[in-house]
Amino acid sequence: MQYKSFLIKYAEIGVKGKNRFMFEDALVTQIRHALKDIDGDFMVVKESGRIYATAESEYDFDEAVETLKRIFGIAAICPMVQVDDNGYEDLKKQVLAYVDEVYEDKNFTFKVNARRGNKKYPVNSDQINRDLGEVILEAFPETKVDVHHPEVMLHVEVRNRINIYSIVIPGPGGMPVGTNGKAMLLLSGGIDSPVAGYMIAKRGVELECVHFFSYPYTSELAKDKVLELARLMTRYCGRMTVNIVGFTEIQEAIRDNCPEEFFTLVMRRFMMKIAERIARDHGCGCLVTGENLGQVASQTMEAMAVTGACVDLPIFQPLIGMDKEEIVTRARQIGTMETSILPYEDCCTVFTPRHPKTKPTLAQVDAACAPLDMEGLIARALENTELVKVRWHG
Ligand code: ATP
Ligand code: MG
Repeated sequence: MQYKSFLIKYAEIGVKGKNRFMFEDALVTQIRHALKDIDGDFMVVKESGRIYATAESEYDFDEAVETLKRIFGIAAICPMVQVDDNGYEDLKKQVLAYVDEVYEDKNFTFKVNARRGNKKYPVNSDQINRDLGEVILEAFPETKVDVHHPEVMLHVEVRNRINIYSIVIPGPGGMPVGTNGKAMLLLSGGIDSPVAGYMIAKRGVELECVHFFSYPYTSELAKDKVLELARLMTRYCGRMTVNIVGFTEIQEAIRDNCPEEFFTLVMRRFMMKIAERIARDHGCGCLVTGENLGQVASQTMEAMAVTGACVDLPIFQPLIGMDKEEIVTRARQIGTMETSILPYEDCCTVFTPRHPKTKPTLAQVDAACAPLDMEGLIARALENTELVKVRWHG
């Protein structure tokens, strides 16, 4: 069966009234964007509480489905056949043709679920259910009706035209990117931060990234790796800007002036402050990091309290309660894992203390920062920032 259309279902409880239109329009925009990137032309329209994507040329079915499965806000993708209303007898023929073509093996239980959107249609939905059930049983005697747990739920929606579908492919859920504000993701080269970005984007948030780069302690390859991670993420999050902040001077200043056990904590304080500045300048309402409670010394409750205390924007840490296993599974699913485990160093590992402080107090970290000209260092780092735009193609 070469399907020409997809019925796109979305479900987010609580999306009502004005928000509902915003949600639908954003979803239509995201679907149009995403389908532009594949071979084939599609028309995407919103019509009485439904979204349809209809192919207007040849296209690759699997590629289209894979693309739709990455669009947040989509609950289900239903490949569908749309037929003209040429009378009731013709509808029966069309439904039989659909069943015949889609199910080679007719050994299944089914139920017909008709809906009459067009109330002028001369037959009501109960009657359509019964009549279509009957013609299917007659034409394909191997089939059986099961109204409680059918293997095949055959949907027949009578609108101006008639939609026939029975295959429901789950989408990613969530909300369309752009419906819930914008966030600044602190993107390292590790496994966690791309997953953290994915999780926040899934809630409808547009992302921008910041990466701290300590050349020559970290190599150009490490930077390329981060840009590649960002590029992989764009398939879900849409195009993004990555701010690459030169971090070398700051790290050397910390190494030369601060007590070793506080190296990481002071460094993270700089990261947060710089990320916050860029976030505010670029209209982001929060910071997002990939921290995970207890994973390493800088991810204890005390360490995170100290790190968070130096900024006013909220810091979202969507992986905070996940196990490493779960994070890795998600990284594989979104396709960032292989790149994340490439062996290039991150600036965090450049000057790692032998005995990091795991239970710091704010006063201790303030004291550790005291010898530094923080404002000057931050201003120079901001000047030394390169903006790279990443998108899936090009
Ligand atoms: P990841 O797997 O994301 O690197 P991690 O487990 O290595 O995380 P840390 O090194 O403690 O943890 O970093 C915690 C978070 O700080 C990261 O998830 C990321 O959001 C941010 N971060 C760390 N290093 C950088 C960097 N060089 N540039 C931007 N953000 C960074
Ligand atoms: Mg890391």
